[in-house]
Amino acid sequence: MIVDAHLDIAWNAIGEGRGFLGPPAEGYVVSRPALQAAGVGLVFATLYAAPAEATKSMRTRFVYENGHEAHLMATAEANYYRACELPLLRSRAELARYVRGWRKGRLAAVMLMEGADPIESPEQLGVWVERGVRIIGPAWGRTRYAGGTHAPGGLTELGVQLLVAMMRKKVILDLSHLADQSEADAFGMWRGPIMCSHSNARAIVPGDRQITDATAAEVARRGGMLGVSFYEHHLRRSGRATLDDVVKHVLHLAKAAGGPEHLGLGTDLDGGFNAAQSPLRTLGDLKRLPAMLRRHFSAAQVEGVMGGNWLGFLGKSLPAA
Ligand SMILES: [Zn+2]
Repeated sequence: MIVDAHLDIAWNAIGEGRGFLGPPAEGYVVSRPALQAAGVGLVFATLYAAPAEATKSMRTRFVYENGHEAHLMATAEANYYRACELPLLRSRAELARYVRGWRKGRLAAVMLMEGADPIESPEQLGVWVERGVRIIGPAWGRTRYAGGTHAPGGLTELGVQLLVAMMRKKVILDLSHLADQSEADAFGMWRGPIMCSHSNARAIVPGDRQITDATAAEVARRGGMLGVSFYEHHLRRSGRATLDDVVKHVLHLAKAAGGPEHLGLGTDLDGGFNAAQSPLRTLGDLKRLPAMLRRHFSAAQVEGVMGGNWLGFLGKSLPAA
């Protein structure tokens, strides 16, 4: 089973009108039938809303001015997943049952909140957990909780409270998009499952959006996972990205993390970028990746990177029941 740890499915459908249930929109690659045909069995489906400052950079008018608006938008996205009957896995028991019965053509999701502004205050975390959120990345750009991409700064007081609440509710922490200082603050206080859903190697593509080798090593030391993004600007400094670039990041991060057991996919496909800005023309191109990885890793390790490693991580990180 292929696992993709980062897809902005609801944002694409609701915010951008690109749908999910039919074939992919012109110039894009993700939709339910496309995922099913490509052998993807599990996705981390995001609740993502863009802040008003990002109207231009995200080329969208689906933006929020404050926490309440963010809450309403993420609520619409959570309801969208329910409405298209995408089974949401909430516990180890549900995951184990799903994996046991899986065959090609089945698709389920784990809900991931990207940017925590929709949580109006840390006391509201329980409501989101109730709705199925199992992973939270506190930042995107700056949020009320943390510094983020191109927005340096540490965890805010609210951010510290949120992480305490997340530990209590057994929510997984996603470090992707966290500013360096916020990440350092998080490492200092976090005692729980940790991952980067869609982050590549800073050593290959400089910039605060990518992670350092030290971050990769620390996530691995804590038993966490790293998902490789397929956005061309995350894959190479300039020019068209290919699957060779994906392999380069997997190799580099696997070395930094002490092994490919900590690596997986977090493509972010169709999330703010189209197929032309990715190494794929269709999702079917994913099937070329295992043979390319096989030149560097054993068959079992390749299977792990394509999906098994994420399943193993969720199997020990989701709430028991
Ligand atoms: Zn992102």
